[in-house]
Amino acid sequence: MLLDEPRAPLRPAELEPRALHPHDVRIAIAACGVCRTDLHVRDGELPDPKLPLVLGHQIVGRVVEGGERFAPGARVGVPWLGWTDQQCVYCRSGRENLCLNARFTGYTLDGGYADETVADERYCFALPERGDDAHVAPLLCAGLIGFRALRFTGDATRLGLYGFGASAHIVAQFARAQGRRVFALTRRGDDEAQSLARAVGAEWAGATGDPLPDELDAAIIFAPVGELVPTALAALAPGGRVVCAGIHMSDIPSFPYELLWHERSVLSVANLTRHDGDELFELLERIEVETTIETFPLEQADAALDRLRAGQVRGAAVLLP
Ligand SMILES: [Zn+2]
Ligand SMILES: [Zn+2]
Repeated sequence: MLLDEPRAPLRPAELEPRALHPHDVRIAIAACGVCRTDLHVRDGELPDPKLPLVLGHQIVGRVVEGGERFAPGARVGVPWLGWTDQQCVYCRSGRENLCLNARFTGYTLDGGYADETVADERYCFALPERGDDAHVAPLLCAGLIGFRALRFTGDATRLGLYGFGASAHIVAQFARAQGRRVFALTRRGDDEAQSLARAVGAEWAGATGDPLPDELDAAIIFAPVGELVPTALAALAPGGRVVCAGIHMSDIPSFPYELLWHERSVLSVANLTRHDGDELFELLERIEVETTIETFPLEQADAALDRLRAGQVRGAAVLLP
């Protein structure tokens, strides 16, 4: 499914198989998760995508050929971080997520809204044989970047999650496994999201603006809504932290300094490192995480994106070729 230009509908297309370079593996795609970032690219909210483009960066598939790292048939995951230069100041200091020349799957590289893709084996994850493809796919970004965001909350016990979709429903399970308390905040009237939040261990779920039963030590904002930053700051205990987990957000309105006073902080989470992935998949060996998904045939990619935009997906949307 090809994006010719931002805001144009995706269209089915036949592309020539790309020639393999050293480190490239050809992958038969079994499932590809739909991320809010795909929606931002589709809607023209992120600059300079490769065009035409195959979206999608939560790929689960099997190696067909190429590279040296995987045998044919190996189960692999392809995440958002597709390539880095390994030379810039960020790469050399263990922060390849900030690489100045990074390339991203489904944004500056073709991704997974397809039957087949080519990826650099050094940035793929070896996946265990556990879990079916469609349920594993959302772990590749919603899980992975959510996991990075959760790490930035430090030892916060009382955790607020603003926007309860693909990422939050996974992060809530990590947080519960770590003994944290989870409070879920959704749009008013989103009973589906609130019931999902309770089902995965939130002790409280309600609408943004409702009084919370307790102060928060940290908040993670998944919804792309800048107004939530001062709202979340106002819910924090002294020393608390607001982590913005998305790649794009509407403008943050001005707010009184008092909301930041007492060593409260705001930061964003950008991309992932391969180390994050290794840590995540190691953690998943020890704890049980269940993803809630809604599947769509590949040809219905646009319908999946529309449902995501409208806030109608319960959990994560996944495309099946
Ligand atoms: Zn993503
Ligand atoms: Zn770099």
